[in-house]
Amino acid sequence: MDTGTVFVRYTVRRLPRNLLFNVALREPDEIPMDAKTLHTSGQLERRVESARRLLGRCILCPRRCRVNRLAGETGLCATGLRARVASYGPHFGEEQPLVGTHGSGTIFLAGCSLHCCFCQNDDISRGSDAGQEVDATDLAAIMLELQAMGCHNINLVTPSHVVAQILAALPPAIEGGLDLPLVYNCSGYESTVALTLLDGIIDIYMPDFKFWRPETAARYANAPDYPERAREALVRMHRQVGDLALDSNGYARSGLLIRHLLMPDMIAETEQILHFIATRLSAHTYVNIMGQYHPCASANQFEELRRTITGAEYRQALEAARAMGLTRLDQPDLSRLLRRLQR
Ligand code: SF4
Repeated sequence: MDTGTVFVRYTVRRLPRNLLFNVALREPDEIPMDAKTLHTSGQLERRVESARRLLGRCILCPRRCRVNRLAGETGLCATGLRARVASYGPHFGEEQPLVGTHGSGTIFLAGCSLHCCFCQNDDISRGSDAGQEVDATDLAAIMLELQAMGCHNINLVTPSHVVAQILAALPPAIEGGLDLPLVYNCSGYESTVALTLLDGIIDIYMPDFKFWRPETAARYANAPDYPERAREALVRMHRQVGDLALDSNGYARSGLLIRHLLMPDMIAETEQILHFIATRLSAHTYVNIMGQYHPCASANQFEELRRTITGAEYRQALEAARAMGLTRLDQPDLSRLLRRLQR
C-alpha cells in the first residue's frame, strides 16, 4: 500500500442503526454477480453471515489463528470483532487510473495479518490501539461520505483481516446509494475462503506481490508460505475480475492491478515475480513496479535492508518487465524517481 502523499483525516460519523439484514448460509452453486445484484437476491447477506461465523474460529487469512473474534479474542492481526479505521479521505498518491480528478476514496484499516519488517505504516499495522473502532453502519457511512466527496472508488487498504466486517458494511452502504467500484488493496497474503466470499463483490483487486522465495518471506515477514498463498490468490483474483478495465475517462472500473515493491539486492526475485505475472496471469496485467523502498520499522536489523534501491536496479526491473511482454506498466514521474535513487 502506498502512503506517499499527504492524507486528509476525517472523523467517523455514524449512520442510523435501522438497516439490519437477515442472514443465511451461502449456496454452493451461487453464480457470482455484482454486489448490488447479490444484495437484491439475498446472497450478499448469506455471505455476511458465513464470514461472521468464520470469526468464531478465525481462519480468514493464511495465519489461521483460530481465535474467537466474536468473543473479542485477537490473533496476529490484533483485531477482534470490530474493524478499526485509522483514517480515510480522497487520496491522490495512488495509481492514476484510481486517482482520476477527485481522488481514490481511501480507507486505511488498522491492523495487519502480514507484518513485514519494513512496513511504512508500522504505527497503524501493529498493535490494537491504532484507529477508531467502527461497526457496519459506521463503515458504510464512511464509504458514502467518500462517494459524496466525488471519489472515483472505495479503496480498502489492508482489508484482509477484516473481510467479514467489510462485507457486513455493504448492505447498508448499497441501501444508502453506494455505486462506486470497490478496490481491495492488499498484501497478497490471502486465503481462498476470503476470496471466495468476495467473488463478484470486489471490482478491482490491487494486491502486492512482495517475495518469491519462501526463505525471504520467512526472514522479512515470518510467513514462509507467502509466495505460495500470493500465487494462488493472484490466479484466483484474475479469474474473478480479469485484466484492469478502464472507462472512457481512463478511470479503473474493474480488474487486477498488481504492485511490486523493489527491494535491495532482490532483482532475481523481482524477475521471477514478473515472469509469473506475464506467463501465468496475463501479459496485459497492469503492474506498478515501485521504487520507493526505504528502511522503516525494524528493517534496520537486516544489514541488506538498510539502503534504498538504486536507479540501476529500477531500470533493470523495468527492462525485465518489458522483455517479458508486460506493457501496462504504471508510469510514475520516471526522471524524478531516478534522480531520487542512487545511480
Ligand atoms: S484474520 Fe487475524 S485472527 Fe484471523 S487468521 Fe488472520 S491474523 Fe489470525
